[in-house]
Amino acid sequence: MAEILDGRKIASAMREDIRRETERLAGRGVRPGLAVILVGEDPASVSYVTAKEKALEEAGMFSLDRRLPESAAEEELIRLVEECNADPRVDGILVQLPLPKHINEERVLLSIHPSKDADGFHPFNLGKLMLGQDSFYPCTPYGIIKLLAAAGVGTRGRHVVIVGRSPTVGKPLANLLLGKGEGGDATVTVCHSATDGLARHTRQADILIAAAGKAGLITADMVKPGALVIDVGVNRIPDASKKKGFRLRGDTDFEGLQSVASKITPVPGGVGPMTITMLLYNTLKAAKARGRQSGQ
Ligand code: NAD
Repeated sequence: MAEILDGRKIASAMREDIRRETERLAGRGVRPGLAVILVGEDPASVSYVTAKEKALEEAGMFSLDRRLPESAAEEELIRLVEECNADPRVDGILVQLPLPKHINEERVLLSIHPSKDADGFHPFNLGKLMLGQDSFYPCTPYGIIKLLAAAGVGTRGRHVVIVGRSPTVGKPLANLLLGKGEGGDATVTVCHSATDGLARHTRQADILIAAAGKAGLITADMVKPGALVIDVGVNRIPDASKKKGFRLRGDTDFEGLQSVASKITPVPGGVGPMTITMLLYNTLKAAKARGRQSGQ
């Protein structure tokens, strides 16, 4: 049976460290703060934002909740981001994605000052990540790196196969794993929707990371015996027996992989809790920089 990598437990230990550092910093007059901006009322986005604000509160951080209606103009949203850029209480800015269709996501992300880019989606920070320089790394890929480290899994010289090439998960994750030093030094293959013979690639993986957004895509026959599997996928499967009318399923056949994989992350309770933890981590990192600048 595969060992379950408990993301909740790892995240909870990290959050306790973050909470302690937050208190120390707040004691010197710098309380880390994140502006959370939500446009519209998409139920999944509302639940993500609620979870993030709860985590901020538990960590002792300041959260500035700003909501705009679905009909808000792009300029209005950019003005709000600029206000947050100028607000000294705000160390990080998070604009919940996706945005309504009439708003250009790229322009909005560009308007966030790179030093307040808690989500790590600004091209400046993504460019630095690609160059192997310190920056704000996107939370889900960075959370996966931290999860592997906390579980004592080295990546040096290992063959990591990532399924998914999105700019928020697959691509930054590939760059982190390719970087030099701890959490990096891996040999990386990135597969995507145009990859021919997916299983041929996934079977080569020492560490297989599924981030395709396709429920149950990775089956036991696609996994090398003893491989470690990280399941990033969050797919809603209609389920009348659940209060919400759905249950969550990852991109892997979790049950089927039990007899093949050495370790595997569950969905929920694997990568998800790490993602929010890294948002706190990035906010704290930005606040520390503010503290250094103000000599606190
Ligand atoms: P996306 O739709 O932007 O990208 C999906 C990627 O998978 C694409 O690059 C596509 O080429 C590839 N892909 C799709 N079908 C494929 C197939 N059959 N074979 C090979 N490749 C295929 O999605 P995303 O934003 O990168 O998210 C991926 C999944 O991870 C989603 O389920 C999302 O909900 C989940 N996610 C979870 C967290 C978390 O915190 N747990 C965070 C971000 C995303």
